Amino acid sequence: MPSAASDIIRRTPFVRLHDVFLAYEHQICTYWSEVDVKQYFYRGDKTMARRRIIAGNWKMNKTPTEAVALCNELKDLVKNDDVDVVYCVPAIDIVPVAEAVKGTNVHVGAENFYIEDKGAFTGEISAPMLKDAGVEYIIIGHSERRDIFGENDVLINAKVKKAFAAGLKPILCCGESLALRKADTYKEWIERQITWDLSGVSADQVKNLVIAYEPIWAIGTGETATADQAEEVCKLIRELIAKLYDQATADAVRIQYGGSMNAGNAAELLSKPNIDGGLIGGASLKADFGQIVNA
Ligand code: PEP
Repeated sequence: MPSAASDIIRRTPFVRLHDVFLAYEHQICTYWSEVDVKQYFYRGDKTMARRRIIAGNWKMNKTPTEAVALCNELKDLVKNDDVDVVYCVPAIDIVPVAEAVKGTNVHVGAENFYIEDKGAFTGEISAPMLKDAGVEYIIIGHSERRDIFGENDVLINAKVKKAFAAGLKPILCCGESLALRKADTYKEWIERQITWDLSGVSADQVKNLVIAYEPIWAIGTGETATADQAEEVCKLIRELIAKLYDQATADAVRIQYGGSMNAGNAAELLSKPNIDGGLIGGASLKADFGQIVNA
């Protein structure tokens, strides 16, 4: 395996992260061809009941005052004892949102953090800080962080491991661009992302992981993947987890679809056997979110 991810990242100027990723690509591939992955599939009818998880990704929306108002507006609409409901909110909204949802069925999530606990990392926020503020879930590897902020799979893998070590539950995002979809190479892309992002992560940890399949061409575009397209990739991800770990782990991991999910299309997407929930951007900021939770 390449030298520790945090060392690579620390030694490398931010804008060069993508180059580092490419430089270490060969080594990572070599590592994965040597690693002792369990290659067997266990097929049977012992599928575990997975609890549905509907998470809102508020992105860079809502001031603290607006955030509390939204929590109050959604409070009765998102009630459902059979669903894990999560609001992943901007860092500045975490404390007021945690206070506003106290005593409800809503869990608090964050949208980003850095892999060190503390120190000279101006502008960053750490996993222990999030944990102390009441955060349970953390989005990692969202396409906006990959594309706009240059986060690569080396950093994303380090974040997944750090999140687990700190007691946070990662919502690990993956997804292909329109170009990869059109080139029909999206399956290989997704498998590669997940394999790298979970390098060194244990089966017990993966059982508590949430994976969000988010085709980039469907995020914020109003163009949703069809339920069959979403199911195809979510099933592929579950089969990959079975290959990398074992069937029990694959049966336990929860897989969400994300990409223009809304009150109108949620029920069909969520009816698919390998789609255990949704990661929702735009529609999580309005009353529609309640309809998605109860779809
Ligand atoms: C997202 O950003 O995770 C997302 C799915 O956004 P939207 O629902 O707006 O497409």
